[in-house]
Amino acid sequence: MFLTGKTALVTGSTSGIGLAIARALAGKGANIVLNGFGDAAEIEKTRGALEAASGGKALYSAADLTRADAIEAMMGEAAEAFGGVDILVNNAGTQHVAPVDQFPVEKWDLIVALNLTAAFHTTRLALPHMKAKGWGRIVNTASAHSLVASPNKAPYVATKHGIAGFTKAVALETAQAGVTVNCISPGYVWTPLVENQIPDTMQARGLTREQVMNDVLLAAQPTKQFVTVDQVAALALFLCRDEAASITGANLSMDGGWTAA
Ligand code: NAD
Repeated sequence: MFLTGKTALVTGSTSGIGLAIARALAGKGANIVLNGFGDAAEIEKTRGALEAASGGKALYSAADLTRADAIEAMMGEAAEAFGGVDILVNNAGTQHVAPVDQFPVEKWDLIVALNLTAAFHTTRLALPHMKAKGWGRIVNTASAHSLVASPNKAPYVATKHGIAGFTKAVALETAQAGVTVNCISPGYVWTPLVENQIPDTMQARGLTREQVMNDVLLAAQPTKQFVTVDQVAALALFLCRDEAASITGANLSMDGGWTAA
């Protein structure tokens, strides 16, 4: 298994896209640092399953990524357990839907902290080990909203454009260090994050659940299909292969044609 002996930290991996990426990486032998919120028994079950799949170790960190001190503690635990992080997947993210002039200030602060600032902290703390080893992979989960906007999602769009810029800057800094840095920009993927924004969008736009699904979400996606978490995970896994060594600084769309329009 080509990732045996390597360690992957996947933020926000107790659910959705992050969980699928953690499973894909564990399936190729990587030790996993699992992170995110959720039911303790469920998480322990997931941790055990990842360990069984990888033949290595899986560690869970409950770090709240909106806090720099919690991120530092998580990275310290990973270094202590595994010597450092070889593959960093900055995936945790959140959404809130409201017009900008009614956007709750604390929601803006939360979205910026989780969707953007957390990746700065994990990246700055993971890079010294990657540079020392001469090998590393950083994969950021951006979004089609790193390239185009939608109304009522100002902080989400701002942070996703931000993470795409951050990806490019770090890729240039690490281009000769054996480290690649890329982001994946999915369209609508069927996960709790999408499901949970349906009620707010219904309210903000005065639509029914079906209208939100078909006229708002899939309206943007020419394939009229949700992206699957396994499709995103397969691309993340490919980026970890040696064959992907020349892919760096890229913003890879997986959006059913959304941003081609
Ligand atoms: P999700 O809600 O299923 O998962 C989010 C994960 O982040 C969970 O594990 C959750 O516990 C964790 N999390 C939330 N707050 C946290 C915090 N403060 N500290 C640590 N972990 C925290 O969402 P998802 O759809 O899988 O989204 C994952 C990423 O993909 C996000 O960055 C999201 O913006 C992006 N994305 C999602 C879609 C989509 O359609 N679902 C599309 C494009 C991009």
